[in-house]
Amino acid sequence: MGLKHLAYRWLSRFHKLADAPRTPKAGQRVLLFHSVGTKIPGDPYGLAASPEQFRGVMDRVGALRELWRPAPFSAPAADRLEVAIVFDDGFKDTLTTAAPILAERGIPFTVFVTAGFVKGGSPVHLSPEELKRLAQLPGAQIGAHGFSHARLDRCDDAALAKELLDSRKYLEDAIGKAVTTLSYPHGAVDRRVAAAARKTGYALGGTSRYGLNVRGRDPLLLCRTEITAFDSPDDLELKLRGHWDWFRHRHPDPAT
Ligand SMILES: [Zn+2]
Repeated sequence: MGLKHLAYRWLSRFHKLADAPRTPKAGQRVLLFHSVGTKIPGDPYGLAASPEQFRGVMDRVGALRELWRPAPFSAPAADRLEVAIVFDDGFKDTLTTAAPILAERGIPFTVFVTAGFVKGGSPVHLSPEELKRLAQLPGAQIGAHGFSHARLDRCDDAALAKELLDSRKYLEDAIGKAVTTLSYPHGAVDRRVAAAARKTGYALGGTSRYGLNVRGRDPLLLCRTEITAFDSPDDLELKLRGHWDWFRHRHPDPAT
């Protein structure tokens, strides 16, 4: 863990002290993970969690379930607080390491899979057969994450439509189920990309902007809060309660 992360943590703790009485009443907080156990070469953002850290975080999610009900990635509820667990990219370890930890605790989850990684035979990502197994697990939902993992905001209209449609079709053929959710590779989304996703048949989209999703939020521009390898169980609670949301300055809000 770098000094930068320590500074961020202290800023978030200070934020908590300054803002302690405000606890939201309803909405969905989406917690984003990438790999659990597989090292990602050159990983300054801490995208690769260890299995021990992931287990600790899920223990805490389970312990908080009276307040934050674990739910599938979905449009936010109006009358209760929910937490959704999601993964980007479709690493093999989502199936082999993360899914059993989630199943033991009865926590549903969504995996946003980059179709080209599966089709291309990437050694660290799900094979077609593993993808199918993952999709059949109770509580698992598969979403798209582009075909080539390109930044969609930099694609022209034709390339954008192809990325959105080809990835959905590939995944649907592979798992034999409809795919109606996506997350935007690199968190790169603007109004044009979200409109194209809606036109392609997606109902829900996840960005990389931190925040609690509340009723009225555009369902194609839902916020997600990343849990990094540097986070302690204490950071998890700070993030659930919004004390890291100041971090969203990294990504302008595509909904405004
Ligand atoms: Zn990705």
